[in-house]
Amino acid sequence: MATTLAPVLSAFWDADRSWALETYEANGGYRGLRRALEMQAPDVVTMVKESGLRGRGGAGFPTGMKWGFLPAPDGGPRYLVVNADESEPGTCKDIPLMMASPQHLIEGVIITSYAIGCHHAFIYVRGEVLHVYRRLLKAVEEARAAGYVGTDILGSGYDLEITVHAGAGAYICGEETALLDSLEGLRGQPRLKPPFPAVAGLYARPTVVNNVESIASVPGIVVGGADWFKSMGTERSTGHGLFSLSGHVTNPGQYEAPLGITLRELLDMAGGMRGGRALKFWTPGGSSTPIFTAEHLDVPLDYESVGAAGSMLGTRALQIFDETTSVVRAVTRWTEFYKHESCGKCTPCREGTFWLAQVLQRIERGQGTPADIDLLLDLCDNILGRAFCALGDGATSPITSAVQYFREEFEAGCHTPADVLFPPERSALF
Ligand code: NAD
Repeated sequence: MATTLAPVLSAFWDADRSWALETYEANGGYRGLRRALEMQAPDVVTMVKESGLRGRGGAGFPTGMKWGFLPAPDGGPRYLVVNADESEPGTCKDIPLMMASPQHLIEGVIITSYAIGCHHAFIYVRGEVLHVYRRLLKAVEEARAAGYVGTDILGSGYDLEITVHAGAGAYICGEETALLDSLEGLRGQPRLKPPFPAVAGLYARPTVVNNVESIASVPGIVVGGADWFKSMGTERSTGHGLFSLSGHVTNPGQYEAPLGITLRELLDMAGGMRGGRALKFWTPGGSSTPIFTAEHLDVPLDYESVGAAGSMLGTRALQIFDETTSVVRAVTRWTEFYKHESCGKCTPCREGTFWLAQVLQRIERGQGTPADIDLLLDLCDNILGRAFCALGDGATSPITSAVQYFREEFEAGCHTPADVLFPPERSALF
């Protein structure tokens, strides 16, 4: 498999005023919309299905299939909601994408809305990123002034409004049904599924909820065709993706590559490990995916291979930690995050993340007991599969995997603080 590609989403991120509509158009922008408007809407859905595009928000659900779950039109509204509430620790691809090239997303929103018969689309953006919110508002206005948004788009007779909505800064609102509650003005907490949003979503109407990168990938598919998209990646994990490298790496940042690339190849692109130190552990897809170690450097980063190796591709947020890092300290920080962000709706997650953090903090201080590791695993066992949404499950992943690979470091927490074993000043992380 080729490990490089001509960048698609990140092609002109370094250009002067990359975010401006004129820059986007000068680089081929809005060709996809023109082409889509000449097609029958169901044919656009078919094209995206055939491309094999899978949801880039983490779960990897086939995008075209999700669109196909919408019930037949009944004369009432149906909605597209873009999940731009990126907040998973380590996950930092949608925010750069929206800052550098917001029209990629806007064009994808218009094409997708046309394809699914939606006349009012929403972009729900994470509350803390005010700069992204402002950029999106401006981008929608630029697109409106150019005739891409509003009534009779490009003379096609198709109408679309786009609302950009800023959340209030809660991780749980990235869960699609909590996001919908929040968008409706309620406290953001997950809803019971089914019904899935495709059947009863925003205002109980059929709704497609897709991640920013998924939607931004649509214009390229319409221009290039399903076969072009499938020519990248692997048979079941097709296309390109943004891989976010952070942590102990020489040049952290976004690397656009075909799915199926390996961490070893990405590290070569990113200048290797910082200071030439050895890789100790890493996350393939954000902190809610089980960690990997140096053994997994050659695992192809596609949904199937990462799953077979015991983790999940998730959001392709590759957090890299070198030999100076305490795995106990890293896992404790992540767990404190999940405890803080648990919405409190269900007991396993609300109480479980609290107790996980308590036990981990004890081990980190070097005051653990020999029974604590089994207690941690038991707590995880009582959360996994029993929480109301993916937040609880995600909180357990780094703990169980870290104990699997580095049990002796947790055992050391019975007598030695993590800060003594791994002085934080050497690591410069956490
Ligand atoms: P999920 O597998 O439950 O659902 C994925 C998508 O497919 C949803 O849109 C869902 O509505 C749809 N779907 C699934 N089955 C369906 C059916 N039978 N009918 C209709 N639609 C159906 O996953 P999830 O709970 O939405 O997301 C979990 C993922 O989110 C994790 O894998 C994690 O990587 C990711 N995540 C991302 C972030 C971030 O900041 N981007 C944060 C936390 C978690």
